[in-house]
Amino acid sequence: MKIVFASGNSGKLREAAEIFNGFEIVPIKGYPDWISPEENGSTFLQNSLIKAEAAFGVVRELPVLADDSGLVVPALGGAPGILSARFSDAGTDKANRAKLLSMLRGVSDRSAYFACSAVMIFPDGSVIAERGICPGRIIDEERGGNGFGYDPVFVPDGFSETLAELQEDKKNSLSHRGIAFRKLISKISRYY
Ligand code: IMP
Repeated sequence: MKIVFASGNSGKLREAAEIFNGFEIVPIKGYPDWISPEENGSTFLQNSLIKAEAAFGVVRELPVLADDSGLVVPALGGAPGILSARFSDAGTDKANRAKLLSMLRGVSDRSAYFACSAVMIFPDGSVIAERGICPGRIIDEERGGNGFGYDPVFVPDGFSETLAELQEDKKNSLSHRGIAFRKLISKISRYY
């Protein structure tokens, strides 16, 4: 079964293809009418719904999948949160990590968590939404070459490696996105 994923993030696309094992994840960029919507919601759930509804509008005949995710750091008042992808002026993963590490310099509370809101809309208009959380801490240097985004500075609870040092299947087994996507998968057969 094909599922159209409303994301242009190559890291997320790779993870979705592995987690949705047995399904075919189709990137939305092949749809000529697709325009990435403005993510102007104030929560992960609102932004994931905005993306999923925009995708549903151009796809129609296949189920669509969207997620909105990010890193939440309580010592920074919840930043970068829903602005995780646009945290620094440059907005690159590298610049975002550099800004995070500089804001946390000298801060002793390094606790953080990744959050993911994942939504599917089916051709009949049915909507399902699920959430996943991955708790951990921010270290003060970058380690590892796997993953994307803030992975090189994030050590999940129960591990000494960063998410960027873990193999992809290990990351997917414990990540916010893995948890939310697997909850969706457990419900798909009821809708399609
Ligand atoms: P979105 O594409 O608007 O949902 O923004 C997601 C942003 O959150 C990414 O660009 C990363 O900065 C961050 N992010 C989300 N999930 C992960 C992850 O699994 N690892 C590292 N960073 C992530």
